[in-house]
Amino acid sequence: GYLYNIEGWGDPYFAVNSSGNISVKTNGVETTSEQEIDLLAAVKAATAKNLQFPLILRFPDVLKHRLDSLYTAFINAIQYTGYNSHYQGVFPVKVNQNKDVVDNLVNFGKGHVVKFGEDHYYNFGLEAGSKPELLLAMHSLINGSPEAYLVCNGYKDMDYISLALVARTIKLNTIIVLELEDEVDTVVAASKKLNIRPVLGIRARLLTTNPGHFGSTSGKHGKFGLLEAQIYAVAKKLEQLGMLDCLKLLHFHIGSQIPTTSILSSAVREASGYYCNLVKMGAPMGTLDIGGGLGIDYDGTRSGSSDMSVAYGFEEYASAVVQAAKLVCNQNGVQHPVLCSESGRALASHHSILIYDALSVVEDPSDSVSSDELISRLDELVGNPTKLHANLKSAVRSRDSNNNTSRAHADQLKKHGVEIFKLSRRLAKQLEAAGETTYSYHANLSVFSLTPDFWGIKQLFPILPIHRLNEQPTQKGTLIDLTCDSDGKIDQFIGEALTLPLHALEQSGGGYYIGTFLAGAYQEPLGCKHNLFGGPTLVRVDSTAGSSGGFTVELLATGPSAADQLKAMHHDPDEIMNDIAKQGAEADDWTENIVKKVLGDMPYLFGAA
Ligand code: PLP
Repeated sequence: GYLYNIEGWGDPYFAVNSSGNISVKTNGVETTSEQEIDLLAAVKAATAKNLQFPLILRFPDVLKHRLDSLYTAFINAIQYTGYNSHYQGVFPVKVNQNKDVVDNLVNFGKGHVVKFGEDHYYNFGLEAGSKPELLLAMHSLINGSPEAYLVCNGYKDMDYISLALVARTIKLNTIIVLELEDEVDTVVAASKKLNIRPVLGIRARLLTTNPGHFGSTSGKHGKFGLLEAQIYAVAKKLEQLGMLDCLKLLHFHIGSQIPTTSILSSAVREASGYYCNLVKMGAPMGTLDIGGGLGIDYDGTRSGSSDMSVAYGFEEYASAVVQAAKLVCNQNGVQHPVLCSESGRALASHHSILIYDALSVVEDPSDSVSSDELISRLDELVGNPTKLHANLKSAVRSRDSNNNTSRAHADQLKKHGVEIFKLSRRLAKQLEAAGETTYSYHANLSVFSLTPDFWGIKQLFPILPIHRLNEQPTQKGTLIDLTCDSDGKIDQFIGEALTLPLHALEQSGGGYYIGTFLAGAYQEPLGCKHNLFGGPTLVRVDSTAGSSGGFTVELLATGPSAADQLKAMHHDPDEIMNDIAKQGAEADDWTENIVKKVLGDMPYLFGAA
């Protein structure tokens, strides 16, 4: 266990049991043996049912424990800080749109805990970022807590907004978050047309930035949200339209994996300042939605020094948020808002594990070039470091120029850089192997579709065998998938390692099981259809014989409809439509008609022409 730092990233859910297998403690800290599941036994039970690898094993109990822990952290922080409101979160469904996951969370979200002599109801809700997501969220929340928020983010057209308004008529606590100034006009138009008053939020674009990989959407030049002056302009506009009373929430999202609580505090302080000003302008407000960003310590170091690690847990996160909000509201004499977060990664990561089977292993051919030779080639390429540096600088400067000579120069340098990178990597591999042979383990998985973040952005996950952990691994290996694609390879592991300690196979043809852990957030939806936005439409362009410049276009295949995408995540589009319509019918004639009309106006969502 120590070898893979399970204690670091896995606590309190994963440990090694006396048989040397991973055990999953589904209720976290309360470790009575009944609540420990032997992962190998679970895998064998699945294969006994003839289920095929790769497997994704979901542990809903772990999901529940994550939710309970998040709420407990906020309830404690609120009590100890003397904060005069409560926490009420939402799950951003983009993080894992699987029906099972979403329904579990909505169901757990109806729960409560007794703390400090009081009942604390969760009223946990959902966040949607596209029309299909909104549909599945509406459907799931029909059976959720009536108080739960349904936060509508993302780019919104007339149909999206109409759907969100319809959600209000079927008694879902829906909030439309304005991300662009123009969205106000669309909301006003839709609201007038349907005669439904919205509840609105505004997404702030903060100056506080999240420095990590996931923070590229934050800061003054971020893609989403309104800068301070625009926020007040929107509020003014709402006031002129007689709709300022609809404005009830301020939201921000500075990106996933916020590395430290000091960045978090500064974001919450900044947003709280805008929140207070909106209250002073006369908006009713009531909720501060701090978005996602609650991170996961993938490498178990708690260093907060890279995208792999955050330097805090739920307690520190909650406490930083509560204190920052309290401070700014007190300074402004403003009532403390309900605190909402859109924590996705932190809730969903631990609860599912990707398991694959190593079928065979081959010795990697030894490098034909010696380390000494590699070093001298590197020396040659790097040459004089000062000169290389100067060259790079001038290449950066001429990057955007149209001058062919400087472009060619930049291209040359790029090739040069790539060459240096490749050589360094080869050398690092040799050093890491330290004269030992390395091995390629062939496993039945597809890196591209199962851990797309590894494939796309080199996000690393804890990877290790799920059994034989009381046996010293004797080989250094990399993992190769069966897609026969050079990208289908895992050759980078936590701790900047290029190989993973693995055991010799006892037999070929399977039976050595390896798991990718903390993979319950983003991987499945990315591997399928991110945000359920849909795929491309395939069109063929033929030139017309005998006419230069003439051509015909022909549809080859339409992209997947919203219905197709919902099905991919195991939702039943017909059931969604019927159940939403039924909710309308159960209300009154007016609602029944509105719901029917709005849904009926969007046949394209369901693949009809
Ligand atoms: N909210 C919004 C608006 C997002 O874009 C995201 C994802 O990046 C999240 C919430 C979830 O973030 P996290 O997984 O870091 O909690």
